[in-house]
Amino acid sequence: MSANSIKNNYLNIRSSIPDNVLLIAVSKTRTAEEIAEAVSAGCRDFGENKAQEMSKKYELFPELNWHFIGRLQKNKVKYIVGKSCLIHSVDSIDLANEIEKRAKAAGVIQDILIQVNAAGEVQKGGVSLKDAGMLLNYISENCPSVRVRGFMEIAPETDDPENVRVYFKQVCDLFKEYNMDILSMGMSGDYKVAIEEGATCIRIGSAIFGERDYSK
Ligand SMILES: *Cc1c(COP(=O)(O)O)cnc(C)c1O
Repeated sequence: MSANSIKNNYLNIRSSIPDNVLLIAVSKTRTAEEIAEAVSAGCRDFGENKAQEMSKKYELFPELNWHFIGRLQKNKVKYIVGKSCLIHSVDSIDLANEIEKRAKAAGVIQDILIQVNAAGEVQKGGVSLKDAGMLLNYISENCPSVRVRGFMEIAPETDDPENVRVYFKQVCDLFKEYNMDILSMGMSGDYKVAIEEGATCIRIGSAIFGERDYSK
């Protein structure tokens, strides 16, 4: 996608959503040039789903906010603690303990979200709606270097975002019940519905950068 269209896509989405909704540009697989184009449009928040890729891009652009949004293996936590402003995808006690260990050693407080899998899709990460409170309580009581800021949801793929409105609503209920401050939900195909259901933060890849090419 040409540089100009990245900038225009970002600005069009930015101006169409409420000012208080954070727009994260999901830059996985994208080059430094493509990221720089989004920066020139005013974007400061980027999302990555691979630990080493995020770490490399952080070194290139340490002044930007790097959100980790992918499945996180315990042995990759060391690459992102202290570099990611917010890890969106925490879904187990084991992972929380590893983040606690690394954050404590680095002398930082690591902000995280608990990923919730409201639709119960087996191939995706995330805790059930029922278990989210338990994980939140565990972290609050046992992980002083980890700060839970809210929840993240990846809705099932669908042609009609109305089909997934119910999942956004369920995660928003949880967000209100626990009085959290960040609710990360909504991607290129469903962000309008996600915002209607209370998202404070959306993660947009292809609608900014074009279709991803994984062949390179
Ligand atoms: C890739 C990805 C996105 C962005 O997806 P698009 O459909 O390209 O907007 C958002 N969230 C997560 C967790 C992702 O992995």
